[in-house]
Amino acid sequence: MITQGVQVTGRCSACGGTTTCDVGQFFDRGMLRWGTEGRCTDCLKGWCEQDSGPVTPENIRQALLQAHGTARLRLSGEVPELVPVLQALRNARELTLGEARTQAAELAETGLTGTLVEMEILATHLRRRAITVIIEAAS
Ligand SMILES: [Zn+2]
Repeated sequence: MITQGVQVTGRCSACGGTTTCDVGQFFDRGMLRWGTEGRCTDCLKGWCEQDSGPVTPENIRQALLQAHGTARLRLSGEVPELVPVLQALRNARELTLGEARTQAAELAETGLTGTLVEMEILATHLRRRAITVIIEAAS
């Protein structure tokens, strides 16, 4: 399993105290999952939320990108055929054909960026179609 997490602090909606919250993304059994688990240090409020799907809530993504930086997925080796790239992208993410074409062009030029877990998932789908890619730090 590939996972990345971070702890963020926030403000309790119930008492105004300080909350600590563990957020993370996971790549588990072929699925992108995300979760958030938090509690208030001043009252008994706590929550736990977990879900899966191609789109992770933006606040979780931003927390991970801030803490760990952006990952960049790039082609390595020979330039692949377009069709398997499109298939891999559309399998990994819910994309229209137009979106997949845009992302395939980005992948070939500057590379695609996102959280480490998101890029690892894309890499898995691409490698399954014999497209060689590498993941590096974007900054
Ligand atoms: Zn509270």
